[in-house]
Amino acid sequence: MTPEEFRRLGHEIVDWVANYRATVGARDVIARSAPGEVRASLPASPPLDGASLDAILRDVDELIMPGITNWQHPGFFGYFPANASLASVLGDYLSTGLGVIGLSWQSSPALSELEEVTTDWMRQMVGLSGQWSGVIQDTASTSTLVALICARERTTSYGLARGGLQQESQPLVVYVSAHSHSSVEKAALLAGFGRANVRVVAHDEQFAMRADALALAIADDITAGRRPCAVVATTGTTTTTALDPVGAIVAVAAAHGVWVHVDAAMAGSAMILPECRWMWDGVEGADSLVLNAHKWLGVVFDCSLYYVRDASHLVRVMSTNPSYLQSAVDGDVKNLRDWGLPLGRRFRALKLWLHIREQGVAGIQGRLRRDMRNAAWLAAAVASARGWRVMAPAPLQTVCVLHEPPGISGEALDRHTLAWVGRVNASGLAYLTPALLDGRWMVRVSIGAEQTERADVEAVWGLMQRTANG
Ligand SMILES: *Cc1c(COP(=O)(O)O)cnc(C)c1O
Repeated sequence: MTPEEFRRLGHEIVDWVANYRATVGARDVIARSAPGEVRASLPASPPLDGASLDAILRDVDELIMPGITNWQHPGFFGYFPANASLASVLGDYLSTGLGVIGLSWQSSPALSELEEVTTDWMRQMVGLSGQWSGVIQDTASTSTLVALICARERTTSYGLARGGLQQESQPLVVYVSAHSHSSVEKAALLAGFGRANVRVVAHDEQFAMRADALALAIADDITAGRRPCAVVATTGTTTTTALDPVGAIVAVAAAHGVWVHVDAAMAGSAMILPECRWMWDGVEGADSLVLNAHKWLGVVFDCSLYYVRDASHLVRVMSTNPSYLQSAVDGDVKNLRDWGLPLGRRFRALKLWLHIREQGVAGIQGRLRRDMRNAAWLAAAVASARGWRVMAPAPLQTVCVLHEPPGISGEALDRHTLAWVGRVNASGLAYLTPALLDGRWMVRVSIGAEQTERADVEAVWGLMQRTANG
């Protein structure tokens, strides 16, 4: 493709995306396609000859779009919001168009330095002190894996340079809660701790980790000859947005030199609102934290911000220094390959930069506050409706609800819940995620898609009531 052809077809694709965003609310939220349907509509082997992009774009409309669930739909209340502001989409596109890779500072100085600037902007936006430095990872899953590897290496005084975990005399233990994200357990397993050394700490009736139970678990492990290594505290759990008491957890951990990683993948965005910062009180005493700019904040996936207090420890654990990547300025610059797992880095800072500059901090704050008001409205409506219950505190934008018709409980209630949420989702008008809360199914209404306004929340509540009663 020549730059001139690219100019024409690129404009068409920009028009296509603009039309999609302007009309996404008229589509069904969920994809209707059956398993294997998209695959079966495509040739099984690659084409020998090239085709025009016009023909390919037609296939996007006819073959691909039926298999798309529309996350940017105002009726999208599933999982967590994954907003993709159009400014950030353009930033991502710029990054792709430049086609640069950040192997080292020298391989594109602006890539590294804009990442330093934007992660520091975000640090200030969420009210963290200057002792934190940040880097952009692909996902919170990766950030948490990096955190647990760093914890492991601190506890073992860089055992990786010797026999690794295989030569430790005592097993190392990681503490989580039953409401930690699945990526936390996965990170602990991949970092080599072993399932037997992942301790699930009890939580309270608000689904937050109990610091007193953590203290007991640590004491038990020490008595049994194991080494407490890391605890993952969650600010905004996935099921209910519960808030683990970071300050109390930090106090317990500090007494035993245990690494504290704060998983604020979702709720970290809310910390740009000063009135929300109590939710992670004590965070300054943690060792690492992750917040995903690619969720509620609005930067198109992938853009996960990982912050550490001791950057030199991170670099010591992650650093590689092959001759072909060395340069004369290495002593004066940040080489971000030493801040995470992959060598190659995309220019992700561009999309974060465009997003923040186009909306301004005040613009983003306004949208988040709108969503929190909408969630508070829904929680109040549910709480006052006969037969309905709010299942957990809703400090942010996710409301967990249960509809309990008289005389139905236990597994019959589970069947009722899954049936009505299934009918809501099948309607195409809205998308909700059911989830298990301490063994029983309930329904999460996760508010915060960029296009979701109060009228959309009122509409989904009306739909929920008609569907559950009907
Ligand atoms: C979304 C989420 C994750 C996983 O995020 P990825 O970036 O998809 O890996 C982890 N923890 C919490 C609390 C989350 O909300």
